[in-house]
Amino acid sequence: MISVKDLNKVYENGSIAVHALKSVNLEVKEGEFMAITGPSGSGKSTFMNVIGCLDGATSGIYILDDEKIEDLPDNELAEIRNRKIGFVFQSFNLIPRTSALKNVELPMMYAGISGRVRKQKALEALEKVGLGDRVEHKPNELSGGQKQRVAIARALVNNPAIILADEPTGNLDSKSTQEVMDLFKKLNEEGVTILIVTHEQEIAEQTNRIISFLDGEIIMDKIIEKEKLEK
Ligand code: ADP
Ligand code: ADP
Repeated sequence: MISVKDLNKVYENGSIAVHALKSVNLEVKEGEFMAITGPSGSGKSTFMNVIGCLDGATSGIYILDDEKIEDLPDNELAEIRNRKIGFVFQSFNLIPRTSALKNVELPMMYAGISGRVRKQKALEALEKVGLGDRVEHKPNELSGGQKQRVAIARALVNNPAIILADEPTGNLDSKSTQEVMDLFKKLNEEGVTILIVTHEQEIAEQTNRIISFLDGEIIMDKIIEKEKLEK
């Protein structure tokens, strides 16, 4: 699903160069549920920006779902981003004063899908995240956990190859955090590939694999063994 080889990212600010990613190698298979951890400044956001086709690497190879991403012009990157990636943000990024339904329809408007199909798919996505009874609610009429579930429905609606979530529980209380993590787990069990950036160990341990960045390098890559329930 994701194949990254010898990826480097250098930010040049005048005479100062910051080597934000240093020869990063990573393979992520379809259906993985992975956490990306590491201290502030370790390169997590830079890595997610490259994986999310928001920014190019300085050198290296990045293949997403059999497509070679490097060297693509911005318009093609944007097209791949819309088609293959569902983004979830810490601050939800919902449009205020606009119903959950219309928020979820938005990515399909960019994709040029007809109004009738948009509405039907948005309703299905909201059903899937457990908000079938809240479709006409506006963001300020929803709890934090519900807002994030609307954002997850929006991320899912174009059937992306991967979901990228940047600190998705960072603005949520513990109950809403668990609500969102349970939803991610359910979606992953249905086959959705999910990468989440998190500072919280408890969140990371609910995934199936944890990688950890330090100073632009992956210093840990650990598979989480889930306890098998005894019959
Ligand atoms: P994290 O997400 O783990 O906090 P970042 O990817 O944001 O880490 O940052 C990695 C390094 O790259 C840091 O040293 C940061 O200061 C630097 N950096 C990030 N973005 C830029 C930028 N646009 N210009 C210059 N340096 C940057
Ligand atoms: P894109 O076309 O994807 O926007 P760019 O070529 O504009 O990618 O590069 C994105 C960032 O990487 C820029 O901020 C730029 O400063 C940095 N960058 C690109 N190439 C190099 C390089 N050879 N050396 C150092 N930094 C680079």
